This record gives sequence, structure tokens and C-alpha cells, in this order.
Amino acid sequence: MSIKVLGFAAESNTTPLAPYYFERRDLRPDDVLIDILYSGVCHSDLHQARNDWHGSQYPIVPGHEIVGRVVAVGNQVTKFQVGALVGVGCMVDSCRECSPCQHGLEQYCEEGCIQTYNGTDRHDHRPTYGGYSTRIVCSEDFVLSVPENLDIKAVPPLLCAGITTWSPLRHWNVGQGSKVAVIGLGGLGHMAIKLAHALGAEVTLFTRSLNKVEDAKRLGADHIVLSTDIEQMQAVQNHFDLIIDTVPNVHDINPYVPTLTLSGTLVFVGFLGELAPMINTVSLILGRRSIAGSAIGGIQETQELLDFCGEHQITADIEMIQMQEINEAFTRMEHSDVKYRFVIDMQSLKVTETV
Ligand code: NAP
Ligand code: ZN
Ligand code: ZN
Repeated sequence: MSIKVLGFAAESNTTPLAPYYFERRDLRPDDVLIDILYSGVCHSDLHQARNDWHGSQYPIVPGHEIVGRVVAVGNQVTKFQVGALVGVGCMVDSCRECSPCQHGLEQYCEEGCIQTYNGTDRHDHRPTYGGYSTRIVCSEDFVLSVPENLDIKAVPPLLCAGITTWSPLRHWNVGQGSKVAVIGLGGLGHMAIKLAHALGAEVTLFTRSLNKVEDAKRLGADHIVLSTDIEQMQAVQNHFDLIIDTVPNVHDINPYVPTLTLSGTLVFVGFLGELAPMINTVSLILGRRSIAGSAIGGIQETQELLDFCGEHQITADIEMIQMQEINEAFTRMEHSDVKYRFVIDMQSLKVTETV
């Protein structure tokens, strides 16, 4: 017997998401079964549904910002009890033995971490399906504990947008006195501003969108630079210790590099692929500047983030949608028209579920 679930899936890179019935595995001894309450909509869901990264295996049930309650536990589960408020992010497993796994960096597992969707389970070799669905089964070691004091509707984005920006902020030791810039005010960008601000940094937003200035200030940005304005770009030369680039599409990073201070770092978290135009090395060499990349965050680090958000009352700014509105939400996200994360109320799927 397995667990019947209703989700929304893309059947190909050109078809809209539509209802899809599938089965979750029966609980293994270390598994928990989670009744999904809310699921965030990440730009990666759109990339994967459209096969932008050329590895999509259909049908795809996206969703890796999952918050729900535990409704059943396997007989060896020790960390969670029925009723616990929990989250699942971008990974559901990894080899657990390689050096990155041993160091809490499962996202860099040498055998490849198992993605929450569009992955293959290490044991039964079945495809993984994500959070645009009513229930999920996950090993307790990849389940996070969600602070009960937060508004849970606005918590899901912490599990990808939050951790993906938190991890570089921590890795590059951002704190009081740091000067951080964020490129792009979307899901990741708005979390980066909130988190960098809460860590005590001076925060600047680079945006193309003048209409986001007031929002950026409210979110915690000290300065806003219109990236299309040459004078404004000139005024921040040699300024930032760390730039977090969240832009999802190919773009020219050469104008940003000289805004790094001596030994500063620009870290990509958004665009995955070949840059164009190419990087001109002159301002890298003359300022001992670095270009880096960063992927989501480890399980321990994600728990650290959730606890930090619990203490500092930090959640995402969200727009709640019904599951049936997902295709329209994808189109709006493509046009940077979301303030600042869509979250799906999974109740909208449960009322139509017939099992
Ligand atoms: P999003 O909500 O769509 O936000 C992206 C923002 O980037 C937009 O709001 C826009 O901000 C700016 N932007 C969009 N197109 C641009 C362009 N052509 N040139 C310059 N700026 C542009 O997306 P998201 O959910 O934050 O995700 C961002 C990217 O991160 C996606 O590619 C996603 O796949 C990736 N991602 C990576 C990881 C990781 O582990 N590294 C994890 C999660 C997501 P303005 O209007 O302010 O310019
Ligand atoms: Zn994501
Ligand atoms: Zn590993």
C-alpha cells in the first residue's frame, strides 16, 4: 500500500501545470509523513517546468519551499512527533558519507544531493515529487523544525529563497560594518535584504525597477541604485564587500565588478549558465576581487536560519494564491511582477482531492 496524493504537474516543457494524481512511498523507519499547508513558488520551479536547465524529467511536480504538519512517523523517528510544524526545502537526501555531507554541506554532496523534485530516490529509484501537492514523505534528517511564533503562511520562502541568501551572507562573514549589495528585488533579493539588514550590514539594492524603491527601503535597504543609471553606478565604485547576484537570466556583470571594494566578492546565486558578455578581468585583477557561486544551504545551516528568523521575527513578503492560479503566477514571475513571493494555499487542492 502506498500513499495517494494529488499534486499539480507539468507534463512537458510547453504544457501548463495541471492536476496530477500520484503515489508517495510508504513510510520507511526514518520517514515522516507531512500534510502540506503552504508551498512557496521559486523561480527555479519555473526553470525546471520549462526545462531551462535541460535536465527536467516529466511529469514534474515542482515545489521546494514546503511547510506543513507531521501526520505520521516511521518507527525509528526520534526528532519529530505527530503534530510538529515542519519544513522541507530543496533536498530530501544525500549520500550522508562524503566530506561535504559530513560537514553539513549536503547541497554539495559528491554524489549529488537528491532534489525534492526532479530527483531520483536513492533507495527505490523512483522520481521525487515536490511541494505542489497535498502530502510529502521525507527522511527526518532532511526535515526542518519551524518556529511556531512565526506567521506560517510566510515561512515557506525561507526554505529556499531564505537559505540561498543566508548561506553566502554567513560564509562571507557579514555582520556589523559590512557593506552588502543585492542585485534584483524578487524572491531571493527581498530575503537577502531582510537578512543582511538583520545581521547588521549596510545594505544596497541594485534594481532596474524604479517602482520598487519604497519597498526596498521598507524591507531594510539603506540605499537603492538604479543599475541602468551610469552616474548612480559610478557613485558606488569600490564600495561593497559582498554583492549577491540573484538575477535569473543572462546579464552583464561587468558594470558591477568595480563597485566591489578591494578583495570584495560577487557571488552568483541566480543565473545558472554561461555569462554573456564575458567577464573582463581587468577590474578583478586590479582590485583582487573575486567572482563566486553558492547553492542553497546545508540542513544544519537551514535550521540555524529558521531559528534566527524565529528570534528576529523575519518571514517573507508573500502573495497567497490558490493552486489553480499557478500558471498565471508563473507568467507574472517571468515579468518580475511578484511582491515578493507567491505562496500556494494547499487547502485549495485538498478541497478537490478525491482519493
Ligand atoms: P524572481 O522572484 O523572479 O526575482 C528575480 C529578480 O531579478 C527580479 O525581480 C528582477 O528584479 C531581477 N531580474 C529579472 N530579470 C532580470 C534581468 N534580465 N536583468 C536584471 N535583473 C533581472 O526570482 P527568484 O525566485 O528570486 O530566483 C532568482 C534566481 O535564483 C532564479 O534563477 C532561481 O532559479 C535561482 N535560485 C538559485 C538557487 C541557488 O541555490 N543558487 C536557489 C534558489 C533560486 P528587479 O526588478 O529589481 O531588477
Ligand atoms: Zn528555489
Ligand atoms: Zn555526500
